[in-house]
Amino acid sequence: MLKLIFKYTNRIQIVGFICAVFCLWSCEVVPTNDQTLLDDGSVKIRVVTTVSPITSIVEGIGGERVALTGIIPEGVNSHTFDPAPSTAIAFSKADIMFMNGLYLEEPALEMALKNKQEISKIVLLGNTTLEKSKWIYDFSFPKEEGIPNPHLWTDPILALEYASIISLELSKIDPLGEPYYRTNYDTFERRIFDLDSRIKVAVGSIPEASRKLLTYHDSFPYFAKRYDLRIIAAVQPSDFNEPSAREVARLIDQVRLEMVPAIFGSNIFPSPIMEQIADEADVSFVDSLRDDDLPGKHGDLAHSYMGLMVENTRTIVVALGGNAEGLQYVDVSEIFEGKSQVIYP
Ligand SMILES: [Zn+2]
Repeated sequence: MLKLIFKYTNRIQIVGFICAVFCLWSCEVVPTNDQTLLDDGSVKIRVVTTVSPITSIVEGIGGERVALTGIIPEGVNSHTFDPAPSTAIAFSKADIMFMNGLYLEEPALEMALKNKQEISKIVLLGNTTLEKSKWIYDFSFPKEEGIPNPHLWTDPILALEYASIISLELSKIDPLGEPYYRTNYDTFERRIFDLDSRIKVAVGSIPEASRKLLTYHDSFPYFAKRYDLRIIAAVQPSDFNEPSAREVARLIDQVRLEMVPAIFGSNIFPSPIMEQIADEADVSFVDSLRDDDLPGKHGDLAHSYMGLMVENTRTIVVALGGNAEGLQYVDVSEIFEGKSQVIYP
């Protein structure tokens, strides 16, 4: 037998074979130079994510068992984000990659497909969560262009489905961590149900005639659908340029007609057009909605998916004349016990 092994393998293969046998015998996993060994002898899973709400949810479920890197910097337009060539390294090392999908991160997805290891998996959370018949198309994401509105995470119940998929996928590649991921998922689920019922109460306190949303960037249709708000318009066209003068005039008329108390811009997409519409229609302009960047900075209490949802809901509810007090009781802190080690770019 040994003779056969020597005949058909070279020296390097023999060394590898002996190492493999030794590792199996001693049940030890040897980490590579940039991987960390966990208490149970397994190595942290290397995970790459894209937008920060997804990074936060993956961190909550994966906790200390994952070495997690988000690649889309907060405060940039995620729809047009083109990763730097150096990002290819993160993809080449990743054991698993979680993206939103629904055509949000096409250049990153392309880079991941080109650079990932053959066995590594790319999970498109949005595509797995929502069947095609439930995709929402609208002004900024018109059906004829074939790209649906990708902002599923603004509906906490859809975000919970993201968490469920994440927990399942992490357990597949790290079966020893399955109870850990399940515990974190259970915590996340409890918080999501609490958040969901508090958002319902807060939005329900807005006078019925004012439960209308006009936003610059079009990120709230799934939120609006769940909480019974009517999106009267989104201002940003599908090419991310400014709307035409004719379109602006139409929007001003519409805002006057609908008699909304406020219209909303977001910090990633500052636009003088919004101030013009608000001035001419004589409504307030609130420019602090967040689409996919978390409040504060990494390390702050509310720098989390839950924090994002609370802050956006509070902004909307207060500006439209409702009562957002119940939202202060939502627990926005870290889902898992331990130290956050995620890399937010
Ligand atoms: Zn967006």
